[in-house]
Amino acid sequence: MFERLSGRLGEVFERLTKRGALGEGDVDEALREVRVALLEADVALPVVKSFVAKVRTRAVGAEVLRSVTPGQMVIKIVNDQLVEMLGGESAGLSLAAVPPVPIMMVGLQGSGKTTSTAKIAKRLTDREKKKVLMASLDTRRPAAQEQLKILGEQAGIATLPIIAGQMPVDIAKRALQAARLQGFDVVMLDTAGRLHVDEALMAEVAAVHAATQPAEVLLVADALTGQDAVNVAEQFKSRAGVTGIVLTRMDGDGRGGAALSMRAITGCPIKLLGTGEKLDALEAFHPDRIANRILG
Ligand code: GDP
Repeated sequence: MFERLSGRLGEVFERLTKRGALGEGDVDEALREVRVALLEADVALPVVKSFVAKVRTRAVGAEVLRSVTPGQMVIKIVNDQLVEMLGGESAGLSLAAVPPVPIMMVGLQGSGKTTSTAKIAKRLTDREKKKVLMASLDTRRPAAQEQLKILGEQAGIATLPIIAGQMPVDIAKRALQAARLQGFDVVMLDTAGRLHVDEALMAEVAAVHAATQPAEVLLVADALTGQDAVNVAEQFKSRAGVTGIVLTRMDGDGRGGAALSMRAITGCPIKLLGTGEKLDALEAFHPDRIANRILG
């Protein structure tokens, strides 16, 4: 991901730094190319416009154009603005509630929700020594509950025993009850997905939310779907109280637009990145590291 964008921006900045002295016209020309590169990377238009405008305002300031290395200073401004666009600071999971702390996982079918549930459970177990219980509330897809159970066995994470025919809200309540009785710190609730956002899905998510009052609602979105991922996140944010985003398939060769526009469009922090199919392929999201990766 980001390779093409990184290459394009690299060319623009190489020309800029070679030039030595810069005028406003040079900055404008470079920013036109930056704009095209971002649009080609599938970054949302309003995000690109705001980004370019902010960089321009700072870059044509007298102290930049009259400095000894104006090109380098423009690159630094682009870097800072990228970090800001990605949310500035990295945001961790907020688990500061009375245990068992419910974390609700939401998202479309196939986004990587169940895999991410197990990855997060494993990370909390391994790194933070939390005792985690996972429960699948997906009563629509027959194999879904079984899939989470198998992932739990692979990762050594407890899963709530399956009771056939139980409804999602009842499974969630049973999970919290079991966690309270057995001293679990965190309960991961893997809700059902759909192919598209629809009323039934949102009603189910809202009912589970009301019954469990989760500390985190993590939307799992597939980075390879670009702006569609951002649209889905907006819909979930307005209806499901999303507190953070997990972007999956960051190991794929997508153009990067979802990762780059998600925060600016939805206002929700990206908290974690899925970087492969294995259960340890999960990384914290650091805006400054992503900016470094893009700008080399
Ligand atoms: P769900 O329907 O949203 O629960 O999706 P799943 O968790 O079942 O994942 C669907 C497929 O995507 C599975 O084959 C996963 O192994 C794969 N997958 C999930 N996350 C990632 C990721 O970050 N990178 C890659 N390459 N594959 C992933």
